[in-house]
Amino acid sequence: MAEIFVLVDHANGQVRKTTAELLTIAARLGEPSAIFLGAGAQEAQATLAKFGANRVYAMDSADLTGYLVAPQAEFLAALVGKLKPAALLVPSNPAGKEIAARVAIRTDSGLITDAVDVQAGDGGIETTQSVFAGSYTVTSTVTKGTPIICVKPNSAAPQEKPAAGQVVPVNLTISEAAKAAQITEAKEKKASGRPELTEAAIVVSGGRGTGGDFSPVEEFADSLGAAVGASRAAVDAGWYPHTSQVGQTGKQVSPQLYVACGISGAIQHRAGMQTSKTIIAVNKDAEAPIFELVDFGVVGDLFAVLPQATSAVQAS
Ligand code: FAD
Repeated sequence: MAEIFVLVDHANGQVRKTTAELLTIAARLGEPSAIFLGAGAQEAQATLAKFGANRVYAMDSADLTGYLVAPQAEFLAALVGKLKPAALLVPSNPAGKEIAARVAIRTDSGLITDAVDVQAGDGGIETTQSVFAGSYTVTSTVTKGTPIICVKPNSAAPQEKPAAGQVVPVNLTISEAAKAAQITEAKEKKASGRPELTEAAIVVSGGRGTGGDFSPVEEFADSLGAAVGASRAAVDAGWYPHTSQVGQTGKQVSPQLYVACGISGAIQHRAGMQTSKTIIAVNKDAEAPIFELVDFGVVGDLFAVLPQATSAVQAS
């Protein structure tokens, strides 16, 4: 069976949920192999094997992790060139996209970013993407080289599929050219206790309708174990940090559930959330454009609706 490479997203060996999603997708396409860069492959091995990785190609070297992404791209391009997998799946985050683009250039391969679904088709691997600020949903197939595919978080529900997870150490020499930009300091973001916005299964977002008081949005989010997002109007007003902005000029999210509270549904906001699996809006204006794309809508004041919803979730 053809090997499908999955670039592991991890923090010191702690494998992120997106990797389990990518391995689940890889298992639909062929035989998943994980690529683990940096320290912690042995700790991660059990998780990777649980979600279907038959092999774990691993390299632990400061040459890979002490610099920006160029060394990782060089490593991956060399491995793809040598082992010729049927595809390489990479998380669709800023680092993942840059790595994928560099690998595609080096291996003369086609690249697809922001896929929300990946399936085996008659003409090869087919991906589904939402493009032009979500105006079109397109199906694409890479026709040149190794398909390099960046997959958005929450594109698949992780499914366990126990496999061997054999760790295969790989030692490649990283060129001096790839080590041009060194990481001199890395500061960990202060933990909010909430999931990362782009990875969360549930996102609750607030807009101008909050009037700057995000407490009902945060309390509802916490009752669901959700991440908190914001519209640009709320961010521009200084009510919430830019890192939480959802939309064309913010982050793109694709959770199982997206709850828009006091958000009108401008096209630029939709561009960041309309691939969410289920969308709920709370808005006091029944004519608000957000109601055009929701699965469930509540016409009402968020300051009355959200506390009731929070109590109901807490009581359940
Ligand atoms: P509004 O449009 O003002 O809507 C507020 C809503 O809250 C209204 O529908 C109102 O009925 C409702 N409301 C008010 N009070 C309550 C209440 N008590 N209870 C319930 N509902 C209430 N926007 C983004 O979000 N993300 C982006 O990335 C982004 N990028 C942009 C890029 C460009 C180039 C441009 C030009 C714009 C961009 N925008 C973006 C801005 C976008 O066009 C909208 O202005 C913005 O999304 C509006 O935010 P909002 O829905 O919170 O505010």
